[in-house]
Amino acid sequence: MEIIRDIGVCREIVEKLRSEGCFIGFVPTMGFLHEGHLSLIRRARKECDRVFISIFVNPTQFGPGEDFKKYPRDLKKDKKMAGAEGTDYIFIPEASAVYGRDHKTFIEVKDLGKIMCGRDRPDHFRGVATIVCKLFNILKAHRAYFGEKDFQKLVILKKMARDLDMDIELASCPTVREADGLALSSRNKYLSPEERKNAVILYNCLKLSEQSVKNGEKDLQKIKAAVLEKMGKNKYIKKVHYFDFRDPLTLNEKSRVSAGTKKILAASAVQVGSTRLIDNIVINIKE
Ligand code: AMP
Repeated sequence: MEIIRDIGVCREIVEKLRSEGCFIGFVPTMGFLHEGHLSLIRRARKECDRVFISIFVNPTQFGPGEDFKKYPRDLKKDKKMAGAEGTDYIFIPEASAVYGRDHKTFIEVKDLGKIMCGRDRPDHFRGVATIVCKLFNILKAHRAYFGEKDFQKLVILKKMARDLDMDIELASCPTVREADGLALSSRNKYLSPEERKNAVILYNCLKLSEQSVKNGEKDLQKIKAAVLEKMGKNKYIKKVHYFDFRDPLTLNEKSRVSAGTKKILAASAVQVGSTRLIDNIVINIKE
């Protein structure tokens, strides 16, 4: 496994591999790897001739007062874990090389970036789209892998790739969870043991809403009210940022299960203690 820190070197390596006819897979990450990241790497390993991952804690996707500075980092462990899964290259650029002093260009996917997580993190998706676009420009992979854990991000990046005619496929991979259902996240590290125990309420509420829909409830507002009441009773949930039902393709909000609806995205962000957690599930509706 090779570590690449220089943007120019990264370009050269990719160019050479492409000229040799290698199919290149790319897994962008912010590091502090866990099984969720590894599931993406494993899939890339199966499907591609060469697997690149990037590790970059991207400053432009963190708002003021968010956890950019304290975001967990453990490069030594990351290298070991990525290497054990057969990663060929880890690209770890310096922030100063990625963003020049007078960086002025940002990618904004209109509307989609302002709903759900964008409501309380207004510049987050602008930062995400910008860094992913930059990484795609530097590391010209054939296919990039993303987790459904960040469902809104995935929809936004697919839209960006389509709108800007980017020559790359985006593959989505299922959310990897702990045994009790909590979605793996680098931020789970912030949770105290008691918060960790209670954090699973997020997944439980998503499953509860799925069950209600499967039981035939059509009124999604009613389900939402029941979920918010349940969350409100848990003293470890300090805030429910949102609990939404949406169309998984367009992210348009849904208030009812209407005739012909096949899939509904249930997505939520909550604050457990001082940690913001997100999760979602796609509910398949039987005809
Ligand atoms: P991050 O390091 O948080 O930027 O995540 C890097 C990639 O890993 C993103 O595409 C995430 O969606 C994906 N990812 C994070 N957590 C999980 C998980 N629990 N299951 C599957 N993919 C995940």
